[in-house]
Amino acid sequence: MQNQSFDELSLSAPIFRAVKAEGYEHPTPIQAAAIPHLLTGRDLIGCAQTGTGKTAAFALPILQRLSAGRRNVQPRCARALVLTPTRELAAQVGVSFKTYGRYLGLTHALVFGGVGQHPQVKAMSRGVDVLVATPGRLLDLMNQRHVKLSEVEVFVLDEADRMLDMGFLPDIKKVIAALPARRQTLLFSATMAPEIMKLAEGMLTDPVKVAVSPPASTVERVDERVLFVDEGNKRALLSELLKDPEIDRALVFTRTKHGANRLVKQLGQSTVEARAIHGNKSQTARMAALEDFRAGRCRVLVATDIAARGIDVDRITHVINYDLPNEPESYVHRIGRTARAGAGGVAISFCGADERLFLRDIERLLKRPVPVCEDHPYHSPRAASAERALGKSGGAKIVSARNRHNPNRFKRAAGRPGKKRGWSR
Ligand code: AMP
Repeated sequence: MQNQSFDELSLSAPIFRAVKAEGYEHPTPIQAAAIPHLLTGRDLIGCAQTGTGKTAAFALPILQRLSAGRRNVQPRCARALVLTPTRELAAQVGVSFKTYGRYLGLTHALVFGGVGQHPQVKAMSRGVDVLVATPGRLLDLMNQRHVKLSEVEVFVLDEADRMLDMGFLPDIKKVIAALPARRQTLLFSATMAPEIMKLAEGMLTDPVKVAVSPPASTVERVDERVLFVDEGNKRALLSELLKDPEIDRALVFTRTKHGANRLVKQLGQSTVEARAIHGNKSQTARMAALEDFRAGRCRVLVATDIAARGIDVDRITHVINYDLPNEPESYVHRIGRTARAGAGGVAISFCGADERLFLRDIERLLKRPVPVCEDHPYHSPRAASAERALGKSGGAKIVSARNRHNPNRFKRAAGRPGKKRGWSR
């Protein structure tokens, strides 16, 4: 499927041109599987994570449908509605529609909380072709009669699993109740848990089911390693790593908002330009930080798990787990931020003695050990041997224990077959 070409997907010339202008050579598996069905108007359940190209999988056929049946839209109405769990994801989906629809002249608007509603009300006043929204603000504007869903032809529920995690089920139900019964409906989710299937049952008609398994394939392309380090040395270790200029764009994860702020301050003192995004920052500050990172004005973005949801920045070269997540699934989500759409990436995890249980859970989930790199100046034998204290043999496999003074010590491959990169790519 990878080698299928976009020519075979019956996309209209302006959409095909926009896809080519983005440099896309082949449709990703989710695109190849979903687009033909969506073009015929079928409902669809897509089991796919961010990073698989799922946005284009729904945006391209929606744009095609809207441009083929072009018509004037009524004030405050939208012809397509995409519901996303976070503001960041909404903004990114909006950018995708703009990018893929650049030769079509369709209109779109974004509606999300955390910023003033007035510009959004204004953007909706004449009606738009595509509306991308988060549930809370959308309902606010619907209640104030600034937005009407009575003309929606296509409805997309994106990242349905996260929506439910974040407690949006009641809001989603209200939105669905306001949609016309006759419509095309798409649901995307990273998992197909029973509650997702239940939600799908009520909102989709005879859907096609398309599943791709990106967690494994994304993770396969990531060069992973774990570095044992005492808590007090983590910052020094990070500074040491960041001396490598090939760490071009690093997403650093901390467990707490406070930890993220502190780290950005400390990195600033050592003249590394970094920004933080987390839930305590205003929407404007989060967007500004993300934009600085995306534009390359800062090399390092420090984030907490929640804030990182939906971040889609291309070419993140390194994901650094400054703190290991206490939920093993978060590890997979985090490292999937690098290695997007076929590219490779490096994921480096710091692990203190107190984090060995987290590492054990991650390795259980992955069903394999994360390669260990001892070859750094802050290696902690205490953290490395902490597994014994847990009474576990542990899966950790030491793949490198070379000369600590080797100037290229951070550039070596971690040792999995076929993986030849160090931290640098
Ligand atoms: P998504 O899963 O929608 O978040 O997309 C992940 C990334 O893949 C985005 O940065 C897209 O620009 C990129 N992308 C989407 N489709 C393709 C494709 N067919 N070829 C190469 N990159 C793609």
